[in-house]
Amino acid sequence: MKNLNNIITELKLQKNLLREDFKLLLTANGEEQKSLHKTARETSQEVFSNKIYMRGLIEFTNYCKNDCYYCGIRKSNAEASRYRMTKAEILERCKSGYELGFRTFVLQGGEDPYYTDEMLCDIVKSIKCDYSDCAITLSLGERSYESLKLLRVAGADRYLLRQETSNAEHYLSLHPQSPNSMTLASRQKCLFALKELGYQLGCGFMVGSPNQTLDHIIDDFAFIKELDPAMVGIGPFIPHSKTPFANELQGGLGLTLNALAILRLMKPNLLLPATTALGTIDSSGREMGVLAGANVVMPNLSPPKFREKYLLYDNKICVGDGPSRCSNCIRGRMKKIGYEIVESRGDYVEI
Ligand code: SF4
Repeated sequence: MKNLNNIITELKLQKNLLREDFKLLLTANGEEQKSLHKTARETSQEVFSNKIYMRGLIEFTNYCKNDCYYCGIRKSNAEASRYRMTKAEILERCKSGYELGFRTFVLQGGEDPYYTDEMLCDIVKSIKCDYSDCAITLSLGERSYESLKLLRVAGADRYLLRQETSNAEHYLSLHPQSPNSMTLASRQKCLFALKELGYQLGCGFMVGSPNQTLDHIIDDFAFIKELDPAMVGIGPFIPHSKTPFANELQGGLGLTLNALAILRLMKPNLLLPATTALGTIDSSGREMGVLAGANVVMPNLSPPKFREKYLLYDNKICVGDGPSRCSNCIRGRMKKIGYEIVESRGDYVEI
C-alpha cells in the first residue's frame, strides 16, 4: 500500500495521479484526510493568501424547460411556486449587493425561454453601465453559440455550467430520455464553446449523486483537466422531496471535501467555491470547504420571497434571510477561521 502523504505530494507536484491513487485520496479519512486538507489549504493560501472572494447570487427565474431528476425546480414539479424577476428587480438586487461590497453578480436561473437574448443582453448591458467595476457571471444552462456570443459581446464576463458528471451513461441516468433529451455531448460542446468565446468559465459536478461511483468522479477530474476552466463548483447531492430522487441518499461531507482538496492541488489558481449545498449538509460546511482549499463564497442577493421558491434541494440554508444578513453572516464565519472577504471582482488569474 502506498503512503498517502507521498500521493498528496505527488499530486501537488504533478497535478495528476493514477486512477487508484485518486481513489485513495477521495476515500481518505482520519489523519490522512487532515493532511490532504492541510496541503490543499496551504496551496490555496500560496495563491490567494487568506482572501476569500464573494459573489452575489441573483436567482432571477425558477422556470425551467428541463426535467433533471435531481432538481427541485424541474418542469414536472407542479408544486413549485414559479416566479420571474423583472429587469428592475434584478437591478435593484445589484444595487443592494453593490452597497454591501459585492463586485460580482451571478445571474442564475432555470432554462427559461421567456428571457430572450434581447432581454438578457439588455439586462447585462444595464448592469455593466451602472456598475462598470463589477463582473457579471451568467448561469443560464445550455444556450446556442450565437446566443452565448451575443451575451458575451453585451458584457457578460463569466459563465457557470456544471456538467454534473463526465460519464455519458451516468449523465443519462440523471436526465430523462426523450427525443430532445439532454446529453453529456451537448453539455460538453457548450462548455468548449463558452471557452472559445472568452468567458471565464466554470464547470462542476455533484458529489454522491445517484449511481455515481468513484470512477465517475475521477472521470470528472480528467474532463476538468482537459477543459481547463477558471472555476469548478462542486457540492454534495441533496435530494428534493418532489423529485424522482426523493429517497436517494445525500452525498457525503468527507467525500465532497476530499474532492475539493484534490481539485485545489490539481490547479492551485482555480476559483473554488465553498457551496451553499456544503453549508446545508453541515452547519460548518462552508468553513470546512475553505479549510480544505476553497476560496470563494456565494451568498444570496435574492429577497426571501423569491429564495424560498428557488429550492433545487431540500433544507437549503438561508432561505429566510435578507442579503445584508447573509453577507454579514458569511463575513463573520470567514473571520472566525482566519480568512477575510475582499471587495473585489476576484477574477481568475493565469499563473
Ligand atoms: S438542474 Fe438546471 S436544467 Fe435541470 S431542471 Fe434544474 S434548473 Fe433546469
